[in-house]
Amino acid sequence: MPARRIYLLSRRTYSAETIAVAFAKTSRSPMPFDQIAAELNAADSARFHEKWVVGYGHASVAEHAVLHLALENVSRVAVEAIESNRLASYTEKSTRYQKWDADAFVTPPELEGHPLRARYERTVRRLFAAYRASLEPLRETLRQDFPPRKGEDEAAWDRRVRSRYADAARFLLPAASLANVGMTANARVLENALRKWLSHPLAEVRQIGEEVKRIAQAETPTLVKYARRQEYLVQTRKRLARRAAARLEAGSPASCSVRLVEADPQAENRVLAAALYRFSALSFAQALAQVEAMSPTARASLAEDLLGGLGRHDVPLRELEHATYTFDLVMDQGAYAEFKRHRMMTQTPQRLTASLGYAVPRRIAVAGLETEYRAAMEAAAETWAALADWNPEVAQYVVPNGFYRRVLATFNLREAFHFCRLRAAANAHFSIRWIARRVHEEILRVHPLLGRYLRLLESESAASIQSDYFA
Ligand SMILES: Cc1cc2nc3c(=O)[nH]c(=O)nc-3n(C[C@H](O)[C@H](O)[C@H](O)COP(=O)(O)OP(=O)(O)OC[C@H]3O[C@@H](n4cnc5c(N)ncnc54)[C@H](O)[C@@H]3O)c2cc1C
Repeated sequence: MPARRIYLLSRRTYSAETIAVAFAKTSRSPMPFDQIAAELNAADSARFHEKWVVGYGHASVAEHAVLHLALENVSRVAVEAIESNRLASYTEKSTRYQKWDADAFVTPPELEGHPLRARYERTVRRLFAAYRASLEPLRETLRQDFPPRKGEDEAAWDRRVRSRYADAARFLLPAASLANVGMTANARVLENALRKWLSHPLAEVRQIGEEVKRIAQAETPTLVKYARRQEYLVQTRKRLARRAAARLEAGSPASCSVRLVEADPQAENRVLAAALYRFSALSFAQALAQVEAMSPTARASLAEDLLGGLGRHDVPLRELEHATYTFDLVMDQGAYAEFKRHRMMTQTPQRLTASLGYAVPRRIAVAGLETEYRAAMEAAAETWAALADWNPEVAQYVVPNGFYRRVLATFNLREAFHFCRLRAAANAHFSIRWIARRVHEEILRVHPLLGRYLRLLESESAASIQSDYFA
């Protein structure tokens, strides 16, 4: 029997496209991977991809070519488009651990030569000025509340309180603020991302798409070559926007909210039946009938078998994915920037707007900054309204993190475990902690048997976060 071999096809030796071809060829060739790769050159690889990936649509082959893209000085609005790809990986500049310089913002290309440009820049500069002016007073109130520990030097003390004052100040940062993002994606994901970026309504995102395509082609010449603007995306978006236009800004919740709009009351039984099914020879109908016939005690015991052994860092079995929830959420933009990173969910965000009102962090009020905070937010809302009358897509750039935004999210119980445990943790921002707590409360309400295994710390609740952190 030939001996088992496990080894790397290293990018130090082979190009990304050659590795993809070497893996693809194992489908028809009995040769070892390294021999296949050694016999390939760039031209062979390109020919293979033209024939199989482009010609015959064997697109999964492109998943073996991986790219690492460094995107710097892009707006937060563009970051949303960049990061809206479920199967890519990202790390971006944090609004919690870094500070922004006064000119660290984008003026969207659409505003070149436009009469609203000066007003746009004035408003953004005002937001940055309010942001920078808030840092020191916020820091002072926090240093009073969290005095230095014994032996803690100045730098360590500042690091300990920094995320807390940045957490309040970030509400003022507009979506125009610059960010850096590292993105890792395979060529199949990237081609799809490029199609979306090249079809995007914002010029900044389309420009990013053109640039990424040029850079990616240097690495994978064939695999992203045919990515281009998709008329389907452009026209469908226009048609739907026209239909919804009259109702766009209707209803103004003016506070964050978590509304469970759909959950199947039978979903707990389905999860339990799926867990039985996995380890039995029953049909699903038989497994479900068994669970439905159980007494409450027997069902609780089955739930205990499924989830009782779950440790803090364990991932529950996949069978939890058979229970799904749809939430209609209103959260501040800062929270949304974090929420959107949960790629496994299905998320439908509305455009960023200043029409739903804004949050006021309690720290801002405690530091005596509420009047200036509100004045800066109102100025942003007025400029947003003037811009939105002309171009609601461009108007997003001026909206600060404190404004509310709606997003429809559908996710399963397994993702809910992950999201709630991560985002209700003490080190998460208070805005998203509130969302995570409310999601947990709603799941507990409809599915108490399985929801209770989420076991979030009882040191706070959605209500306590609301009163402790918001004015
Ligand atoms: C305290 C804290 C600080 C953070 N700071 C930053 C920061 O400074 N900058 C920043 O960019 N982000 C930051 N994040 C965001 C974090 O890195 C995640 O991107 C975010 O929490 C979304 O979670 P997720 O990646 O698990 O995605 P989800 O969509 O929630 O993923 C669900 C699960 O699917 C699996 N999964 C999803 N995608 C992949 C993948 N591509 N490969 C392998 N497995 C996958 C994982 O098991 C994951 O647990 C921070 C998060 C926390 C909690």
